[in-house]
Amino acid sequence: MGAYKRIMLAVDLTEETNRVAQRAVALAKAFDTDLHVIHVIEPLSLAYGGDIPMDLSSVQEQIHEQAKSHLAEFASALQIPEDHQHLIFGRPEAEIHRVAEELDADLIVVGSHGRHGLALLLGSTANGVLHGAKTDVLAVRVGSDVTVSD
Ligand code: AMP
Repeated sequence: MGAYKRIMLAVDLTEETNRVAQRAVALAKAFDTDLHVIHVIEPLSLAYGGDIPMDLSSVQEQIHEQAKSHLAEFASALQIPEDHQHLIFGRPEAEIHRVAEELDADLIVVGSHGRHGLALLLGSTANGVLHGAKTDVLAVRVGSDVTVSD
C-alpha cells in the first residue's frame, strides 16, 4: 500500500480524453509515478461479425494507422515516452486488464464514459474495467455538467 508505483491511463481518444489525462498526469506527478497509456482498437470483425459481406482489412489498417498517430501525438504532448504507449487490438476491458497486469500497474485511470456512455452514467467500458480489476480503478467523471476549474 502507500503511494502508487505505476499508473495506467486508458484512453478512447475522444474529446473527453484530455480531461481524464489531466487527472492521471497530476496524480503521476504527485506520486512521482511511472505513467503508461493504453488505447485498444476493437477489431471490426468483433463489432460487425459476418454482417458486412466485404473484406474489412484495408479499413482496419486505416483505423490502425490513424489511432497510432493520434495516440503518439496525444502521448508526446503529455511527455509519455514511446515505450510507455500501448496500442493493442482486442476487447477494451480484457486488454486493459491484461496489460495492467503485465505492467504491474497498481492504478488504472479511465473516464466515467466516452463514446459508449450516456452523460452521468458509468460507461460500459469503465464499468467492465472496474469489475474484473485486480487493482484500484479511478473513474474520472466527465460529462457536460462537469466544470474543470483549474
Ligand atoms: P465507455 O465506457 O466506452 O463510455 O468509456 C469510458 C472510458 O473507458 C473511456 O474514457 C476510456 O478511459 C476507457 N475506454 C473506452 N474505450 C476504450 C478503448 N478502446 N481503449 C482504451 N480505453 C478505453
